[in-house]
Amino acid sequence: MPAGQLLYEGKAKQIYETENEKELLMKYKDDATAFDGQKKGVIQDKGIVNNRVTNLLFRLLEIEGIETHLIKQIDDRNSLVKNLQIIPVEVVTRNVVAGSLAQRIGKEEGFPLPTPIIELYYKNDDLHDPMINEYHARAMGWATDEQLKAIQGQALKINKVLQKLFDSINIILVDFKLEFGIYEGRVILADEISPDTCRLWDRDSFEKLDKDRFRRNLGQEAEAYQEVAKRIETALSK
Ligand code: ADP
Ligand code: UDP
Repeated sequence: MPAGQLLYEGKAKQIYETENEKELLMKYKDDATAFDGQKKGVIQDKGIVNNRVTNLLFRLLEIEGIETHLIKQIDDRNSLVKNLQIIPVEVVTRNVVAGSLAQRIGKEEGFPLPTPIIELYYKNDDLHDPMINEYHARAMGWATDEQLKAIQGQALKINKVLQKLFDSINIILVDFKLEFGIYEGRVILADEISPDTCRLWDRDSFEKLDKDRFRRNLGQEAEAYQEVAKRIETALSK
């Protein structure tokens, strides 16, 4: 599908220019990486699932009043999005202790948090995405006060919308990562929300239905990703 020039090749997606400079074509790949790119692999049809899941979730979020970059899905792997100036701050929201938080605070994975935690990371592969706080983001000029407020407010609202959806399909939304960008002066949701960027546990079996299957060599990654897409589609078709 891509007809324009390749502008950027990331770990999970390629970004192409379009005839309209305000729009980009985003192509989702099957490539998977973990641990700062040290572990590399392929999850079959991951690109198709992540494109579908992201667009379903972004449409739901739009209905709930969250503006996203999505213009339209072009085909199974490609979507047209607004060309944003990405804010280089990754926003992680957590409902249950897992991953790097479990290590940092010395608590078992699975501890439910009474209130969500928001963490900020500087999006910089060379520096291994270090954790930062609002003061770093402000002082370095990565985001203004107003933008930081908007980002965190949106992250909490997105968390509520997604928790409700995942709850209805028997999945625990453990944590997830968001990216935001600026478009015509507004801070809007960018990138993707998929099993690559969330931790999703089946509520009955606690089976992992996300990228941790790849990170931890648990196998059946493709099946887990498909299962998430199937459950979301079923919930949203009702
Ligand atoms: P990475 O850059 O971390 O390897 P990807 O392979 O997912 O990640 O690449 C997608 C890139 O596109 C990311 O750098 C992301 O910040 C950027 N991006 C996401 N949405 C938009 C958008 N709407 N406009 C411009 N850039 C975007
Ligand atoms: N995450 C992500 N991209 C990153 C880092 C984290 O999508 O570059 C997601 C990750 O999948 C998880 C959440 O953010 O859902 C929190 O990740 P954590 O800080 O525990 O880091 P990790 O275990 O990935 O090192």
